[in-house]
Amino acid sequence: MNLPNIEILDEKDKRLRLISKEVKFPLSKEDKKRIQDMLDYLKISQIDELREKYNLRAGMGLAYIQLGIAKRIFVIVNEEDDGTFTNYIVINPRIISNSEELIYVGEGEGCLSINRDTEGIVPRYARITVEAYDIDGKSYTLRVREDLSVAFQHEMDHLEGILFTDKIDPKNPYKNANMMREI
Ligand code: ZN
Repeated sequence: MNLPNIEILDEKDKRLRLISKEVKFPLSKEDKKRIQDMLDYLKISQIDELREKYNLRAGMGLAYIQLGIAKRIFVIVNEEDDGTFTNYIVINPRIISNSEELIYVGEGEGCLSINRDTEGIVPRYARITVEAYDIDGKSYTLRVREDLSVAFQHEMDHLEGILFTDKIDPKNPYKNANMMREI
């Protein structure tokens, strides 16, 4: 698998603050290709040997706006326990329900647009149900939990111009930790 030619915006780029727009179907050939490129990029970034070869950081999700395109599309590649990869293509998503329970990633969230060490708690719902559209414009409903739930919420924030670091209180980065479960 060759590394797709993708340029990811850095957090200083103001375009990351745009609110992305609803997508109309059918998608263009270019969009379908771009989505496949994003999936390939994430998969490569999660395979140790290839990540080192191409000098990448590991990433689980990528939103269109991180390429400078303000459309409500993101993709996630999740490595399963058996070593296989599951691809998620998520277009015009909406959270239709969420758990009461909150969680946070103990080692901190990461983002391919944020190239510095960050620490602190980003509260996320432990479980959410999302309604979205696939690459062919077909609607589907998906329930996600734990780290996949965090990844979905992180990417959905990108669609609103929000970065995970916005959600960390700089004066007290571990505020309210006792009210949430660490994952
Ligand atoms: Zn991100």
